[in-house]
Amino acid sequence: MIDFPMRHRVPYDGGFQIADFDPDPPKSSGSDARLEAELEKSVERLDELQRRLFAEERHALLAVFQAMDAAGKDSTIRKVFSGVNPAGLRVHAFGRPSELELRHDFLQRVTARLPERGKIGIFNRSHYEEVLVVRVHEEALAAQNLPAPVGKDFWEDRFESIRDFERHLARNGTVIVKFWLNVSRTAQKKRLLERIEDPEKNWKFRLGDLDDRARWNDYHAAYQAMLRATSRSYAPWYAIPADDKDYMRAAVARILVETLEHIGPAYPKLGAAQRRELEAGRKRLLAE
Ligand code: AMP
Ligand code: MG
Repeated sequence: MIDFPMRHRVPYDGGFQIADFDPDPPKSSGSDARLEAELEKSVERLDELQRRLFAEERHALLAVFQAMDAAGKDSTIRKVFSGVNPAGLRVHAFGRPSELELRHDFLQRVTARLPERGKIGIFNRSHYEEVLVVRVHEEALAAQNLPAPVGKDFWEDRFESIRDFERHLARNGTVIVKFWLNVSRTAQKKRLLERIEDPEKNWKFRLGDLDDRARWNDYHAAYQAMLRATSRSYAPWYAIPADDKDYMRAAVARILVETLEHIGPAYPKLGAAQRRELEAGRKRLLAE
């Protein structure tokens, strides 16, 4: 079986090149049928692990998704969590910040959406936009009314804020796993064209997406700096090849399963008092 987590984890030492990460799946990744079977197995296993997480109420899981447009964030989230009880999920898609959100620090709106113990939180985009789209379009910072002009340490300071924030969450029981869906420029073009040609996908198309596409190299530079600065043992990034959707989904699902298995959520152990309650309940029901 493929060791997805080891294969795609972004190293914690900060010394990697984005170019080393391939948008194409590894050659040995297997047939579509095999990947689909792999996904199905992980989807079932996630359901079981989520039940235990929920019953135990000791940890939360936060899954962060970041990518260029049309990399497949939405469909990956839809497929991977398709077997999980919706009551246990907290999903949020982060768009452009509102006026009020801009008046807060940049972590406030994500803090408000974090999963509580027992829940799985899914961030479709996240606080990482603050070091990606905002870094590429630095003029957006003007709307944030920051106390000091943007100096040379500005982005390093933001990375530090993010690392501190995530370490704090990790210490308090939130297990964090972050996915960068790595789509190639060629595959993005094909998928954006599909949005134009397929009436059911027209609604997804925004001309502005092409402006971001035109800044591809700037985005990739921002991604590289961000991945280097924020992939850490307490909140690892995984760089998932996104040009083959079957592979991407199987990899994401498997990594989530292994992350949860690592914490090993278990149904709470019964104490003597609870056992007595169960026994009393059985007696009463059977006596009816
Ligand atoms: P979509 O995910 O395609 O619905 O688009 C959401 C848009 O909101 C994207 O263009 C993001 O770049 C943008 N966005 C998300 N978070 C921020 C942020 N913190 N600052 C500026 N733009 C953002
Ligand atoms: Mg979009």
